[in-house]
Amino acid sequence: MKIGELISFLESQAHPSLQEHYDNSGLLTGDAGWDCKAVLCSLDAVEEVVDEAIKKGCNLIVAHHPIIFGGLKKINGKNYVERTVIKAIKNDIAIYAIHTNLDNVIDGVNGRIAAMLGLKNVSILAAKQESLTKLYTFVPVDMAEKVRNAIFAAGGGHIGNYSECSFNAEGEGTFKAQKGTHPYVGDIDRRHTEKEVRIEVVFPAYLEHRIIAAMKGAHPYEEVAYDVISLSNVNPRVGSGVIGELATAMSETDFLEFIKAIFQIPVVRHTAFPGRPIKRVALCGGAGSFLVARALASGADAFVTADMKYHEFFDANGLMLIADIGHYESEQFTINLLQEILEQKFPTFAVLKTEVQTNPVRYFL
Ligand SMILES: [Zn+2]
Repeated sequence: MKIGELISFLESQAHPSLQEHYDNSGLLTGDAGWDCKAVLCSLDAVEEVVDEAIKKGCNLIVAHHPIIFGGLKKINGKNYVERTVIKAIKNDIAIYAIHTNLDNVIDGVNGRIAAMLGLKNVSILAAKQESLTKLYTFVPVDMAEKVRNAIFAAGGGHIGNYSECSFNAEGEGTFKAQKGTHPYVGDIDRRHTEKEVRIEVVFPAYLEHRIIAAMKGAHPYEEVAYDVISLSNVNPRVGSGVIGELATAMSETDFLEFIKAIFQIPVVRHTAFPGRPIKRVALCGGAGSFLVARALASGADAFVTADMKYHEFFDANGLMLIADIGHYESEQFTINLLQEILEQKFPTFAVLKTEVQTNPVRYFL
């Protein structure tokens, strides 16, 4: 199997256009055309992980954090990023990063954390704006099913947990074929009236090229009439952080004990207790302080995240318990998630998890 096939599948789960503007997800070293021997999943593709990949015969590392983030001006091995890149290139190791695009889908990093906490009714905390598009096209009645099928196969028509959603209205289309055309129906230079179906389908904006190409490929007309409209509705499966509910409310101390056990952490930094049971929990793996206001507005009793600064703890305003559990700790289950995503699709392929503990932070207790 080619590395590009694995990447295509990962991108169907978390499209690269869903990454934040500052991010650098994608293939960082190597070539999508290489044959893939085996995959190693990790949170950080650091030098020790490249060593592990070499030792285990993996020529693709799928990592959450992009090792090349702010760009490289020199590659002479003076810091850990340069040494990692040099080692990967010298040993024909491809490094693929799936970062904020995996944060921004509901079944990604945060969905996995929510599952580990047993949260119910999980939804996106801050949905991404302008991420849905609508296609209208006009198809002869007997070809409508073929065009609908092509659009669905390309990823159109998903609303929440429903697939193959479309609206279809019959009407009449008119056209007059000019000289030099090859009309599917009707004659040159005479107005033709055709019974047509107007098909409406919604899809994530990033699929536009694929959906239009699939629709045109299945459409019988030489000149296809269609409209593409950006919607103000948000995609409920795409955005930052998630919020959900514990099966049963817990006291604040029980909740922090629970978190310590789930994430296997020795200590939690947290705000003063607001003094009420914890039921609604918002969370964001990694640095999530930008979501404090949204968590408060969503009525969260607790917000679980990492990398909170001193002043940001004040933003809880005494109304919500903020628990900072550490960046690595909050995202540690992403390694399992990556392995499971790939194993479900490619069950006979070797997909390994790193055994290197890449957390650069230690606790002196
Ligand atoms: Zn992170």
